[in-house]
Amino acid sequence: MKKKPSVANRYAKSQALFAKARDLMPGGVSSPVRSFKSVGRDPLFIQSGEGSAVLDVDGNSYIDYVMSYGPLILGHCHPAVQAAVAKQISHGSSFGCCSASEVELAGMICQAMPAVEMIRFVNSGTEAVMSALRLARGFTGRKLIVKMAGGYHGHVDALLVQAGSGATTHGHPSSPGIPENVTANTVVIPFNDLPAAQAVFAKFGPQIAAIITEPVMGNIGVVLPQGGYLEGLRTLCDAAGALLIFDEVMTGFRVHPSGAQALHRIKPDLTCLGKIIGGGLPVGAYGGRRDIMNLVSPAGPVYQAGTLSGNPLAMQAGITTLRLLQDLNLYQRLEVLGKQLEDGLRQSAKVAQCAISVQRCGSMITPFFSPGGAPVHNYADALQCDQAAFSMFFQVLLDGGVLIPPSQFEAWFVSAAHSEKDIEKTVALAEKAMRAVAEK
Ligand SMILES: *Cc1c(COP(=O)(O)O)cnc(C)c1O
Repeated sequence: MKKKPSVANRYAKSQALFAKARDLMPGGVSSPVRSFKSVGRDPLFIQSGEGSAVLDVDGNSYIDYVMSYGPLILGHCHPAVQAAVAKQISHGSSFGCCSASEVELAGMICQAMPAVEMIRFVNSGTEAVMSALRLARGFTGRKLIVKMAGGYHGHVDALLVQAGSGATTHGHPSSPGIPENVTANTVVIPFNDLPAAQAVFAKFGPQIAAIITEPVMGNIGVVLPQGGYLEGLRTLCDAAGALLIFDEVMTGFRVHPSGAQALHRIKPDLTCLGKIIGGGLPVGAYGGRRDIMNLVSPAGPVYQAGTLSGNPLAMQAGITTLRLLQDLNLYQRLEVLGKQLEDGLRQSAKVAQCAISVQRCGSMITPFFSPGGAPVHNYADALQCDQAAFSMFFQVLLDGGVLIPPSQFEAWFVSAAHSEKDIEKTVALAEKAMRAVAEK
């Protein structure tokens, strides 16, 4: 008779791979959050995915809310996306020349987002942001960039900064390897604090090239803009001749078919995209006003290039993903599932007598273990959360077959492949996990 694997060796193959990986790759990973370090566990090695589920190398199956951190809005292995990529690869994977699929995806994005009049494809969200900042500085002839505390825009040097001692001081590098002079032109302000933004513009207005922000923050967990905040930023930029850059790498095509900018009816000057527009393949893009975009080389003098940019495989995956989102009107479905998860987590917390703040925008959601379940409006609020409680919550979910991002400061992603049953199972397990947290 076969013995049921004990909990101790349920993750044996992942653990063995991690031991090898740690010797070969820093921390054993290709990107830090995958290490599960902040929740005190060894990482899973994933073998395959299908729909809403992933299977690890030990044969454990999970309902997946990581979803590759956002790109997989249709779930894993969508047959139409697979077919489009397979068809393209039979024709070639990269040419270093123009291809029709770039024109098609560019047209779809510009049509969906009126603020994006022209677009340039790159290979990652990081690259999109980096290039948009260069362009904003090239267009305005100014140096300063204003960003939100805790705002993550990829690993761009100038944006890996911590706030200085006051709201209106320049930032300090948050990573070794970044010279002070690279972050000296970055000013950090708290999200949802219009007076702080006004103070920065009062002090530095004519030197400010751009504000960059996620219109709905996703990289400190999900934090919505408060009424009037984004409008206030738009007004400040207009008055000072600065550009407003929305980083919609996460929110673009996630929270609304035309992005968070449509949801909040604000027209940014430049928009950064990634994730969903590549349908699970590596991609990024930046776009916006025609007069600004025409400064990008070779149309204009602001240099930016890429060997694999506009890669046909990524373009085909993106085209297919965006087309299905539109044709099947999946946003209603995503809203229904997101709402079910939000309501379910709130109810679980109530039953388990565990104070949390559940924050959601469409199919992005974060339950914050904040003091007394207080709402989280910015990074400082998020830092107040009980990370030990989150770790315990994460582990109960993981061992019960639900994979969420291994950090309190991340959004969970619901895909169109999730079912009501998946959400029910998740909510039931979350109640068990919250009881464990409440009893601690
Ligand atoms: C993921 C993300 C990025 C970085 O994209 P990469 O493709 O990982 O470089 C930038 N900005 C936001 C808002 C993101 O969510």
